[in-house]
Amino acid sequence: MVLASLRGVSFTYAYTEQPALREIDLDLEQGLLYAIVGPNASGKSTLGSLLRGIVPHFHEGELTGTVQVLGKNLLEWDPADLSREIGCVFENPFTQISGIKETVFEEIALGLENLGVAPEQIIERVEQVVAQLEIEALIAKNPNELSGGQRQKVAFASIIAMDADVIVIDEPTSQLDPESSDAVFAIIADLKARGKSIVLIEHKMDLVAQYADRVIALAGGRVVLEGPTLEVLSSPLLVEHDIAQPEVTVLAGMLADAGRPLARVPVTRADAADLLRDRMKGARRADRS
Ligand code: ADP
Ligand code: MG
Repeated sequence: MVLASLRGVSFTYAYTEQPALREIDLDLEQGLLYAIVGPNASGKSTLGSLLRGIVPHFHEGELTGTVQVLGKNLLEWDPADLSREIGCVFENPFTQISGIKETVFEEIALGLENLGVAPEQIIERVEQVVAQLEIEALIAKNPNELSGGQRQKVAFASIIAMDADVIVIDEPTSQLDPESSDAVFAIIADLKARGKSIVLIEHKMDLVAQYADRVIALAGGRVVLEGPTLEVLSSPLLVEHDIAQPEVTVLAGMLADAGRPLARVPVTRADAADLLRDRMKGARRADRS
């Protein structure tokens, strides 16, 4: 099934002048990992929130065009029903903690409780995600006393526990150290391998290159590029719109400028290493002949 399709969608938050999203046409398929990239204030979080119905159900404003999510017009979805289908890890981990639970364990269990899952199953599920995210040391703590990074992990755990088929994840590692970021991305890779549909908002291009199937690049609330990861991340249009390219793509550009282009434009380190190895083999063969 189609995950979402947007036709001529614009959205302006209440009490603001400029639209946050402008004339967006997009089709998202299920079972893929989409990365949304773009400069600050380009509309990434708004687009993520729109897929989950938080815009316009919770953040009010003027929505034009049509948004279909999982076969139904967004405006016809009951927000509670949609929240069962689509899990959402927000950008700001301080807004994600419920504030009504006294321990991290209960906080992670809250979503499952609301779904009416049996207590034994809740305990099993929570223990599983706690182990997966390696946050055993946090479970007895008060969620309101956690640091930003700890909250981010707890918010992520709550969503994983609910096991929705679609997950929108907004800058999941913004508050995390590199080690915890790797742990979070290992889980994202695992979710993807289990066939989940993932919409990931992420500005670290090396991670996008490594994990995304397709990339949606936004600038000024418009989609400036959408397509397979390699195609989008190697496009010169990204640079024109002030969107960073992966490190190795920039390096390949410098090589090309110096008259030593690689056979293709790489976006991941592994790809760049292969291309360089091939070229060196070719050079050795040329030396021998
Ligand atoms: P990004 O995630 O790419 O940084 P956002 O979607 O958060 O971009 O923001 C897009 C635009 O919408 C920005 O101009 C921002 O100021 C505005 N905006 C975002 N959230 C709100 C809100 N809750 N109320 C009013 N304006 C908002
Ligand atoms: Mg954002």
